Amino acid sequence: MSDLRELYQDVILEHSKAPRNFRELQNANHKAEGYNPLCGDHFTIYLDLEGDKIHDVTFQGSGCAISKASASMMTQSVKGKSKEEAEKIFEQFHQLVTGQANGDPESLGKLAVFAGVSEFPVRVKCATLAWHTLQAALEGKQEKISTE
Ligand code: ZN
Repeated sequence: MSDLRELYQDVILEHSKAPRNFRELQNANHKAEGYNPLCGDHFTIYLDLEGDKIHDVTFQGSGCAISKASASMMTQSVKGKSKEEAEKIFEQFHQLVTGQANGDPESLGKLAVFAGVSEFPVRVKCATLAWHTLQAALEGKQEKISTE
């Protein structure tokens, strides 16, 4: 188990050092900003949504290793998925990091590396920040001109 834990930590460290899809998305039609004041994690998620499909997703910002790795791996796991599929993955991920997963954590693929977070309740917000922000971006639409 400790070997596995080390492996998990390696994956998280590697993603936090070299996050994937870490850039502003020029043609984003949805975006949202997420902030976790407990830790200081602060990210913007950019989405290019084509109908119901996540054609592209990127993020920018700064935060701790867990939050950054989670954002990086979130973009990888929802790219090409429908809104509904992304929500479903988030639901499973949320259960995993809060220690309520009842299925096989391996069904989450690489995201299973975050299982250890459930032992550190304070870190749950770090691990789920990017996902909550993704949800906000999926629901809201970026308006270039405000009529309000
Ligand atoms: Zn954090």
